[in-house]
Amino acid sequence: MDSQPLSLVSSLSKAALFLQVYLSSSPYTCKFCGKGFSYPDTVKRHEMVVHLGVFPYKCHFCGRGFQSRDSLRGHLPDHTGEKPYRCSHCGLEFNWRSTLHRHIKKLHNRR
Ligand SMILES: [Zn+2]
Ligand SMILES: [Zn+2]
Ligand SMILES: [Zn+2]
Repeated sequence: MDSQPLSLVSSLSKAALFLQVYLSSSPYTCKFCGKGFSYPDTVKRHEMVVHLGVFPYKCHFCGRGFQSRDSLRGHLPDHTGEKPYRCSHCGLEFNWRSTLHRHIKKLHNRR
């Protein structure tokens, strides 16, 4: 049904495809679990987040760490009250891109 945002589904299948391709020929492997990655940045982030519990994107208001810039951006409105994602159809503002996508799909029925 429409409970899952389209973007999530497509990025998940993209990630699965990515893994399939690079598991066989991955130049950068995680030194903890041996998982292969295609970019040094990706393996570094994987090691930090999954194995070391380090979150590279820090909130400069409260010091909380986040795995991705997107999660950090979604957290910032807690401090600033700003909502970075704006619906281009009706102008409503949202903290999260996924919430905006769901809103557009539900109310404006666009892809
Ligand atoms: Zn690993
Ligand atoms: Zn914060
Ligand atoms: Zn709207």
